[in-house]
Amino acid sequence: MLKTAMRYSHELLSEVVVTGDHVVDATMGNGHDTLFLAQLVGENGKVDAFDIQEAALLATKEKLAPFPEKKAVHLHLDGHENVAEYLQEEKIKAAIFNLGYLPKSDKQVITLPQTTKKALDALLAHLLPKGRIVVVCYYGHSGGQAELDAIKTYCQQLPQKQYNVLAYQFINQKNQPPVLFCIEAK
Ligand code: SAM
Repeated sequence: MLKTAMRYSHELLSEVVVTGDHVVDATMGNGHDTLFLAQLVGENGKVDAFDIQEAALLATKEKLAPFPEKKAVHLHLDGHENVAEYLQEEKIKAAIFNLGYLPKSDKQVITLPQTTKKALDALLAHLLPKGRIVVVCYYGHSGGQAELDAIKTYCQQLPQKQYNVLAYQFINQKNQPPVLFCIEAK
């Protein structure tokens, strides 16, 4: 059976991320991806996870609590547009974004095209060869279509000599199914 965008995003990451890697969760939310990444990199790896809502940090902390891999995770109450300040000279193997709003929370707090693009610029500058950045765009909410358009254009304009870029979406589903983009550094 064809995979959902969420499931495919994890498969794309698990194909390249190994124990000890440094990775980024750009939109921590309830910590689903943060935990997944922590389990891929293991206790000796590093996950930098970002969100601008304290509720997201609390939910993620709670989700990670039973797992030894929590040692690898650094939770930042900050926008992903500031990711460069945290990475400094370090290279990363992968990053993930789930764009939209925190489920069951304030739908006014959404990711925005300008800050998402700033974060992508910064992450691409730190991405190792063969590394991947996965962006899953949920766009059914107000402002979502504009963000999807901006991210699609951003991805389409990345130079083919440096990056492979994939788009993945179910095109016969109702209610704006998410669109997944994967940028792979050559
Ligand atoms: N991946 C998450 C999970 O596993 O639950 C879901 C992420 S949710 C769709 C999007 C999240 O992005 C929200 O929690 C929201 O607060 C966060 N967000 C919005 N603007 C942000 C920014 N500039 N930097 C980091 N996170 C941001």
